[in-house]
Formats: sequence, structure tokens, C-alpha cells
Amino acid sequence: MSEALYSSWIEISRSAYRKNIEFFKGRLNAGTELAVVIKANAYGHGMVEIAHFADECGIRVFCVHSIDEALILRKHGFTQRIVVVGPTIKRMAKAAVENDIEVLCCDPEYLHNYDNIAKSLGKTVNIHLKIETGTNRQGIAGQVLIAFIEELKKCTNVKLRAVYSHFANIEDTTDHSYARFQIERFKREISYIREAGFSGFDMHFASSAAATIYNNTHFNMVRLGIAQYGLWPSKETYLSYIIEHGHGPEHILTPVLSWKTVIGQVKTIKAGDFVGYGCSHQMTRDSKIAIIPIGYSDGYDRKLSNQGYVLVHGKRAPVIGRIAMNLTTIDVTDIPDVKAEDEVVLIGEQGDQIIRAEQVAALAGTINYEVVARLSDRIPKVVVD
Ligand SMILES: *Cc1c(COP(=O)(O)O)cnc(C)c1O
Repeated sequence: MSEALYSSWIEISRSAYRKNIEFFKGRLNAGTELAVVIKANAYGHGMVEIAHFADECGIRVFCVHSIDEALILRKHGFTQRIVVVGPTIKRMAKAAVENDIEVLCCDPEYLHNYDNIAKSLGKTVNIHLKIETGTNRQGIAGQVLIAFIEELKKCTNVKLRAVYSHFANIEDTTDHSYARFQIERFKREISYIREAGFSGFDMHFASSAAATIYNNTHFNMVRLGIAQYGLWPSKETYLSYIIEHGHGPEHILTPVLSWKTVIGQVKTIKAGDFVGYGCSHQMTRDSKIAIIPIGYSDGYDRKLSNQGYVLVHGKRAPVIGRIAMNLTTIDVTDIPDVKAEDEVVLIGEQGDQIIRAEQVAALAGTINYEVVARLSDRIPKVVVD
């Protein structure tokens, strides 16, 4: 790292990524497409870097949230299929069609807008129709779906590429009755679409949790998000998996990301001295503290103030005082010989210690998804192995 001009960086492991993808490839039936979800800057891992890893693993479909993410991938030369799973507004439609980006569509007005634009460009637009099955987010069902299908029949330059949905309650439970209920609704609407004369479309429903523990949700494609990064969607998913397959995490998913920084300054302070804004921490003994150049604007949650810990010389050093925008203070009194520029691990391994995104999440009152997705895109990515 000595040549680098940054004091905090994210390491992403190519071999860990490959291992996770191989695991999922091994679980899917032949003919089921493994699409990777790389929205939110690939959950903080770096969208372009992860797209390269995925490309090296032979991945043929990327899912992103927005057209602008899709355009960044096209600009970097990725020729894979790209599916935008978030809403697109009308003025983005032309860019989508021109760049062969597949889009979520479940509104007749937007449908005709796509059809007109595709006609004027002499192209066909591929849409993914989202079915409302019980999550009550995006998607349509019942009469609204019937009306949409009638309009779709009139469109000459729109292809129904896929029909899909999203589970509401797989991650948070080991009881999958609600997921089964959603699948039943999905299948009913699919039969209706077939009866209306459509065929040859793909179907997809599963994200990481369903892909990991629930094989009959795979249909033609799986949308793999957090698990490709080596993180479990939840404890419940992990438990459901090991109850069925019975082996430890080291054999299954490997975290791809580590977040590191270096110490900026070390100093000694006296018993009774306060640390940081609000004087929220007071030393009870003469102490040695270290200042690290990361804070909440980097994605280190302010709720970790007086709660979190980092690794220095392979030992845990507690966060003391409030986390500031770009600075955090840690207590290194019990760690010998700490000096400026020593490496600090915020997420990842050092010596025989490890800090997992899940541990950080628990301390900050959130989930691993949020811990990684909120890592600032300013933090440079370094590819390792
Ligand atoms: C984010 C997202 C996913 C990925 O979910 P994970 O739990 O991270 O696998 C899948 N599908 C849709 C529609 C999403 O928005």
C-alpha cells in the first residue's frame, strides 16, 4: 500500500467472489440463469470492479436499480444483458432502448411510451413485468394486470422478456408459508398471461435467501444479491441452510470485502480527560488513544460511537467518543507499540481476529446489507488475489 495516496481503502477478493459464484452455479439447474444484482455500487463493493469479477465468472445478466447505473456499465464496455429493476421515468426510456437495457414495466402509459420510442429507433425493447404477489412494493396483479396485458397485445416493438416477483418474508423467518403463498399467486397470474396468448418469457422470483434455501423458487433465473459478496441474507437463512445441509460457514460463503485504514496520530491522555464531541467518553485511567481518518461520511455508522471496535496489531481496539464526519478515536492503551500509519481493520481479518459486517451491523442496530451498501463510493477499491 506504500505508493497509494489514500488513507482508507476497500479490498475486494477475486478468489472469494469466484468461490461464492461457483457455489451458486452448483445449486442451479441447467438452464437457470444466474443474474447478479450489482445495484448500490455493488452493495458498496464497487460496481465496475464487481462487474469485471462477474464477467470473469461467465455471468451473463446484471441487475441494477436505475438506468444511470446501467449506462455506466455500458460505458465500461459490458455487453451482458442488463435488467433495471427499479422504476424508470419516461424521459429515461430513450437511453434504455438505445443501449439495449431491459426494463421493469407494469404501467400501460409507460409501455406505450417504450413502444413508440422503440418504433422510432427501429428497435425492440425487452420488458420485465413485475407481478404483485404480496410484498406490496412494485408490481401489478388482478384486473390491473389484465388491462396491462390487453395493452401489451397492441405493442409491436415491445417483447415480454420476463415475468417476475419478489419475496416479502424469506430472510426474516424459518417459516416459509408466506413465500409459498406468494408462489401460488405468481403461478396463477402466469397461467393467466399464458392464456392471454403470451409465451417464451422467462420467470424469476428468487433473491439470495430463496436461491440458497428454496430450490423450487428458481424458475429460469435467480437474482443473486448479497450472497455473491459472501454475506448471508440473515441468521435465519444461514440456519435454514445448515439444518438442511449441515456444514459450517467456511465451506459455504466467503466475504469478498475488507475495509482498512491507517492510524493518523497516537497520543497519551490522562485519567479524567474527555474524548470527542459532546464529551461523551471520559477516560478512567491514563490512556493511549489513536485517531483514524474515517467517520460517518465514509459509511462508518455514527451509532458505533462508544460501541464499535476495530483491529490493530490483531487485537480489538474499542471506539471511544463520538464518531465524527471523517475521524474516529480508538483506545489502544492495551496494545503495545502502536504508532502512526499502522494498519487498522474496520471490517475483515487481522491476525486471528475477524470483524464481520454482521457484527458491525448488530452494534449499529442494522443489517449487514446496510453496513456495506452505505460504504462511501469515495473509498478506493483494491483488488486482491
Ligand atoms: C436487491 C434486489 C435483489 C437482491 O436481493 P438479495 O437479498 O441481496 O439477494 C433481488 N431482486 C430485486 C428486485 C432487488 O431489488
